[in-house]
Amino acid sequence: MKLILLGPPAAGKGTQAELMTERYGLAHISTGDMLRSEIAAGTELGLLAKSLIDDGNLVPDDIIIAMVEKRIAEDDCKTGFLLDGFPRTIEQAEALERIAAIDAVLDIDVDSEIIIDRVASRRVCPGCGHSQSVHEGEEELCAKCGGELIQRADDTPERMRHRLDVYRERTLPLINYYTEREKLVQVNGALPIADVSAQIFEFMDGIVANAAHEDYASFEE
Ligand code: AMP
Repeated sequence: MKLILLGPPAAGKGTQAELMTERYGLAHISTGDMLRSEIAAGTELGLLAKSLIDDGNLVPDDIIIAMVEKRIAEDDCKTGFLLDGFPRTIEQAEALERIAAIDAVLDIDVDSEIIIDRVASRRVCPGCGHSQSVHEGEEELCAKCGGELIQRADDTPERMRHRLDVYRERTLPLINYYTEREKLVQVNGALPIADVSAQIFEFMDGIVANAAHEDYASFEE
């Protein structure tokens, strides 16, 4: 299965991607995580990416496309992968079409106002990459590995407003792009995490059951 998770920043793509990759054994390709690793390692790409990311701007298409193409060629992607945060522009989507045949695009739909609210409480674990909400009075420790949580530099309400503008201008046209190609499945992302994953799992279980049925039918022939 080759899938894309689409949606505005802080829609819950990373959280849903973790749950989906665990359940379906897909390789998780998060371009945001890959860029943050480059920053942590102090590479040339990391240096270039840091100021763009901190200001809420996109990293140039050619750099991202080359990075994703290399990652998709790795062995763990052969049986299927989940793209989280890519593509973010029409140029990236066109390049992806030349690299891989995508089965479906899951769009997590959430209103901007909910996102601005959510981002104030969003924290990430620099150790394992897990992201969670922390409310007043709660300990800022990672629920997965116990590490100390931090707020991403690009997660302040002002930067999030800019990221949402960038999303509307550069990424939103992908909704039409994938609708025209009959790949788009919309999920209500305003609901609690478990309800969002229930919608996703229902769709994915349908694909898995269909694939198993087709395998069985071709075995019978
Ligand atoms: P994310 O963790 O997906 O929210 O990504 C964090 C930041 O990394 C984004 O705001 C962009 O600056 C950069 N980034 C991640 N994926 C892409 C992409 N596909 N194209 C361009 N920039 C990206």
